[in-house]
Amino acid sequence: MSEADRSSARVREVMHFIGGRTVSGAGDRFGDVFNPVEGRVAARVPLATTTEVAAAVAAAKAAFPAWAETAPIKRARVMFNFKQLLDQHHDELAELITREHGKVFSDAKGEVMRGIEVVEFACGIPNLLKTDFTDQIGGGIDNWNLRQPLGVVAGITPFNFPMMVPCWMFPIAIACGNTFVLKPSERDPSASVRLAELLKEAGLPDGVFNVVHGDKQAVDALIEHEDVAALSFVGSTPIAEYIHREASRRGKRVQALGGAKNHLVVMPDADLDQAVDALIGAAYGSAGERCMAISVAVAVGHIADELVEKLVPRVKALKIKNGMEADAEMGPLVTGAHREKVAGYIESGVAQGAKLVVDGRGHTVAGAEAGFFLGGTLFDNVTTDMRIYQEEIFGPVLAIVRVPDFASAVALINAHEFANGVSCYTTDGGVARAFARQIQVGMVGINVPIPVPMAWHSFGGWKRSLFGDHHAYGEEGVRFYTRYKSVMQRWPDSIAKGAEFTMPVAK
Ligand code: NAD
Repeated sequence: MSEADRSSARVREVMHFIGGRTVSGAGDRFGDVFNPVEGRVAARVPLATTTEVAAAVAAAKAAFPAWAETAPIKRARVMFNFKQLLDQHHDELAELITREHGKVFSDAKGEVMRGIEVVEFACGIPNLLKTDFTDQIGGGIDNWNLRQPLGVVAGITPFNFPMMVPCWMFPIAIACGNTFVLKPSERDPSASVRLAELLKEAGLPDGVFNVVHGDKQAVDALIEHEDVAALSFVGSTPIAEYIHREASRRGKRVQALGGAKNHLVVMPDADLDQAVDALIGAAYGSAGERCMAISVAVAVGHIADELVEKLVPRVKALKIKNGMEADAEMGPLVTGAHREKVAGYIESGVAQGAKLVVDGRGHTVAGAEAGFFLGGTLFDNVTTDMRIYQEEIFGPVLAIVRVPDFASAVALINAHEFANGVSCYTTDGGVARAFARQIQVGMVGINVPIPVPMAWHSFGGWKRSLFGDHHAYGEEGVRFYTRYKSVMQRWPDSIAKGAEFTMPVAK
């Protein structure tokens, strides 16, 4: 969109949130935020300069000493207040998400709920920061541990969960005593600013949580800033790998969650109707724009033909419309460019010889003809040499791969470079147990299509779906956002006279 178009359309401007207040962009670069149902620019978002990023880091740095000294129970009270405010603003946040992302309102409400659950987990921070104490390891000496905050930490998040993914990070980071700079996706940035306002209303001191919008330039500024102690990233694999490498090189702690290609195995003994329901929801929900979306159905043995037969009418019958309509099952894609990218994958699947059973291209929605809609798409006879099998499409496209037996299904999945989520539909306990143990994937579902761990477990894939050691949220989150310290103490009356030249051991 040209500058003249923007000013004539008078689009809303999204603001940064730095040091407890909203701040306009100071640079001359802006990004377009679309209304994906109408296919038009609805707002513009400032793309921060290095100076603006530095201002956010400086605000966080200034707030750190007092916040780190605040008692964990007081930090927890802010989280309790925040949770209450999130409950009160649940629908408002979900609507913000639907309007910029496009996912259906009920799904957006689910996203808000999953974010709230991490805040609820963070309310338990006094207990989570409790550590071990050993009385009397030797004469008059005690040994215990501390978990101390790191300082200023940053989060860089993707477009597909504009509230939930930031909530995987900042509630725990802040509850641990860190201060935070969030760089949300520039494609749907508004929810994060609302979260910042609600945190302030909850009593969070200014500067503890900051939001700075932007693209690669802002991300690089965070990576390069010497006052940023740690980075959490969620997004695509090439960027995850880049951020992990560049931040690690500078001595920062980093966890970088990447892309995915999630398989759902349908065993010949599975309840086929349940498996079909699971595939429809998990492949086409949120238009496939989920890192835990199922994009490959692995049909084992004779079940394949019947599976395809049952899937086709269901894919064709998907209710695709404005996500604010009550009966919508799938909304538009996030941008026109993303829709073109997904359509390109459909073309490549056809060119590489997959059987296009349902073609979602050219799908239009009455009254929203300019919207970024794409119909549900189904491919059969997909093979491992095809791009639609190897790469993450991130759209409403399901590929069916046929394999002869269980062992081939496991081997197929274990050979893929991505290893985020996986699922197996079966009624055989032995198969289920073998699957869970043999599969080399971070999050496994048995008769559960999208096994996203609850807030008090932790989220993360294996292989090229996660760079770094720590999974997100849960106790892994507490470990990531704190430094472990061991303290050993004795008092003068138990100190023997004279220097010791040997390794001290318990006496
Ligand atoms: P993306 O990688 O394009 O963007 C993610 C973030 O990185 C954004 O904030 C963006 O501004 C920033 N970014 C983009 N290009 C950059 C560059 N060249 N240098 C530095 N920063 C850059 O991802 P997306 O399209 O917003 O989100 C979809 C991707 O996220 C999918 O691959 C999906 O699988 C992945 N994802 C993964 C998980 C997970 O938990 N593993 C969860 C959600 C999404």
